[in-house]
Amino acid sequence: MKHIVEISKQALTQMLLNGFEAFVIKHGDKKRSGIEFHASLYGDIKILDKGKKYRHVIEFISVDTSAEMNSGSVSFSIEASDLKEDIAEQMGFYQLGKMHSHPYLAHEMSVDEVRKQGFDFSPGDLEAISDAIDRYEEGLGYHLEVLLTITEMKQKNTSLDGRKESNLFEFSVGNCKCFLHAQVFSKSDDKLHWDDTELRCSFLEQNGHLEANFGLIKAKKGRKRVLEYKPNN
Ligand SMILES: [Zn+2]
Repeated sequence: MKHIVEISKQALTQMLLNGFEAFVIKHGDKKRSGIEFHASLYGDIKILDKGKKYRHVIEFISVDTSAEMNSGSVSFSIEASDLKEDIAEQMGFYQLGKMHSHPYLAHEMSVDEVRKQGFDFSPGDLEAISDAIDRYEEGLGYHLEVLLTITEMKQKNTSLDGRKESNLFEFSVGNCKCFLHAQVFSKSDDKLHWDDTELRCSFLEQNGHLEANFGLIKAKKGRKRVLEYKPNN
């Protein structure tokens, strides 16, 4: 089955606002910056070509505030997911899937390493996705997961920004490099499958990177694991 995943400008904005807040700002008693965030995706779904093609239109996201957000992993509550799904449906929106972020501070992984291996789903992600599909009747379930990877770089470099693959964009936000990756998974014979997924986002297709006035995100003096944002004056 083929899946088209469309991300509206509003949903992309929410992904960036929440993704960067989790990336830069130190949360509570966490010792470092760069925690993963988890959110649910909402919008509309259209079934095309007699069920051969699904078009998922992500109109907005809702951060899963009960998810346990750490620097190397994030786990969400099924109860919260069910609750939010039912409320959203009352308002006319479907819960389309989930998203989370992978944050990398400059000393943890270079952007070249991220390009090689970093914007993909981790073994832990795949396990959670497989469990999510198991909640559906056999053969009927699938799962849409969006992954936002944010990498700190010493300085801005937009040269490789643009579409990378049918389901992957690379773009810059100031001196940080982002990768937005969408993938639909299904299962058969207890094995996870990567279904044909196309990511569409007209904002990213028209603007390789955010041109807005943006300051610098960098490690605080003497603390390589804690970031700070210095706006331009
Ligand atoms: Zn992950």
